[in-house]
Amino acid sequence: MAVIITDECINCDSCVEECPAMAIVSADDSPLDEPEFTYVKPEKCIECVDCSVPKCFDVCPTPGAIAWDMPYTQEYDDYYMERNGEGIYNIRVHKSKGVFSPANQPRPYRDSISIEDRVEHKALEF
Ligand code: SF4
Ligand code: SF4
Repeated sequence: MAVIITDECINCDSCVEECPAMAIVSADDSPLDEPEFTYVKPEKCIECVDCSVPKCFDVCPTPGAIAWDMPYTQEYDDYYMERNGEGIYNIRVHKSKGVFSPANQPRPYRDSISIEDRVEHKALEF
């Protein structure tokens, strides 16, 4: 993804309109079965690689609400597909193209963020 929204989120939805990739939806529009929080679609997030600071982080009033997740790349296809099956994500399925998995549709990511920080879901800070 990219980034994930944690249980620190207060569902203010300030980030929804700011995302340049339209990757963020409010809990009411979340594709998860039992959504509690605003949701980032990992198959859409581009980590705002062309910006100095991710737009969602820039507007978020809540420290710790947005954290790093793994790169959305082929290398982490199993990671995302397993969690997709567990209901942590609900990755879009296209009628003819199939699941927009990392292997099918890798997304840009910030290589300046370490894999260790991503494994720990470290909160964004700039
Ligand atoms: S990092 Fe950028 S692309 Fe990803 S969810 Fe946040 S605003 Fe959207
Ligand atoms: S701006 Fe922050 S607190 Fe508000 S919905 Fe987005 S992640 Fe949650």
